[in-house]
Amino acid sequence: MTSEPVINLTLLGWEPYFETALVSSSKEKLIPARVANEDKHAYVVLTAMGEMSATVSGRLMHELRLNAALPKVGDWVGVALCEGENKAVIHSVAGRRTQLSRKVAGREVEEQVLAANIDTAFIVFAMDQSFNRRRMERFTVMVHDGGAQPVVVLNKMDLCKGENALSVLEEARNAAGDVPIIETCARTGLGIKKLKQWIPTAKTAVFMGPSGVGKSSLINRLFGDEIQDTIEVRECDRKGRHTTSWRELIQMPWGGLVIDTPGMRELRTWEESDGLRDAFPDIEELGVRCHFRNCTHTVEKQCAVKEAVERGELAAERLNNYVKLHKETREMKQERIKHAYIDRKRQSKVSRRNWEEGKRDTDE
Ligand code: GDP
Ligand code: ZN
Repeated sequence: MTSEPVINLTLLGWEPYFETALVSSSKEKLIPARVANEDKHAYVVLTAMGEMSATVSGRLMHELRLNAALPKVGDWVGVALCEGENKAVIHSVAGRRTQLSRKVAGREVEEQVLAANIDTAFIVFAMDQSFNRRRMERFTVMVHDGGAQPVVVLNKMDLCKGENALSVLEEARNAAGDVPIIETCARTGLGIKKLKQWIPTAKTAVFMGPSGVGKSSLINRLFGDEIQDTIEVRECDRKGRHTTSWRELIQMPWGGLVIDTPGMRELRTWEESDGLRDAFPDIEELGVRCHFRNCTHTVEKQCAVKEAVERGELAAERLNNYVKLHKETREMKQERIKHAYIDRKRQSKVSRRNWEEGKRDTDE
C-alpha cells in the first residue's frame, strides 16, 4: 500500500492500549482498524487508508469460537489489506477497554456483546411516560459492569410540566445516586450542549433506553442537519438493501463518536453482581455492618441496611429494588448451573452411546 492515510486513527479513539490488536498468530502484516458496522459476519472497518469491508479470518474464527469474543462495533482489530481491493481480513481483536453486554437467558446463559470500547453510555428516559426507576437501575448496573460511564438523560422535558414534573424529577435524581443526570428536549435542543460535553473528540458514546424515548431524535440533534443522510441509508438497510456508507459508528461533526446499533435498542436483562455493587454502593457499604456475612437484608436480624431504612437514612424503595435485582441475579446463576448440568448429562449420554455403537460395530 502506497496511498496516503485518509483517516486519523487517533480521532477514532486509537490508543496504545489497543496495540495488542497487531499481535496475532497470523504471518500477515497487520494494521489497526476500528469496526464501524457488523452484520452477521460481514464487517465494515475504518483504517488509516479509509473505510473497507472486512471478514474474520478462518483461523481467528476458529480461535475465538465464543460469540462474545468475535469483533463487535467499536472494537479495535488487526487487519490485513487485500492487495488492490477495498477489502480487509480481520486477524485479531484487541482487548476491550470497556464493553456493553447483556446476558441472554436461553438454553444456556450466553453473553452478548452489543458494543465495545464505549466511554459514555446515555441511559435515556422520556418524561411523559411513567418514569421507571428499576429500569434505570438495571441499565446503570449494566453500564458499570462493562466499565463505561453511565449518564442518565431525561428527554422530552417539554412534555413534563408542573407539580408532577417536579416529583418525577426528584424520583429520578434519587434513583440515579451518583450518576449524572441531563435534562433534554430533542425538539427544542435543550441540554444538547451538555450531552456533547460527555462525547468529546475521539470518545465514544451510546444511547440506550426503551424505544420511543427519543434516542434517534437526540442523535439527530447532536449531528445537526447532515444526519438526515444517515437516516435515509438506515431505512434502506432495514429493508435489506445494503449500502456501504451506513455505519453504526457515527463520527459527529465536532469529533465525538456515537455507536447506534439495532441491538443497542432492544436491551433488557443481564446479570452480574459486581455491577450491582457499583450501582448500590450505599447498600454495600451499610451491608458490611450486618450481623450475618451473607445477609440478604430481607429477613435477617441485626441487619444494618434495614436499620438504616428504619432510621430514614435509606429509601425503602431503593432497598426493595436492590433486593429484587439481587434475587434475579441469583436466579439467573442457578439457571445457568442447571443448564450446564443438563448439558453435561446429555454429553455423557451421547459419548456413551457413541462408545456403545462403536463397540457394536467392531463386535459385528
Ligand atoms: P427512539 O425510539 O428512542 O429512537 O425514539 P425517537 O427518536 O424515534 O422518538 C420517538 C418519538 O418521540 C418521535 O415521534 C419524536 O419526534 C418524539 N420526540 C423525541 N424527542 C422528543 C422531545 O424532546 N419532545 C417531544 N415532545 N417529542 C420528542
Ligand atoms: Zn443486612
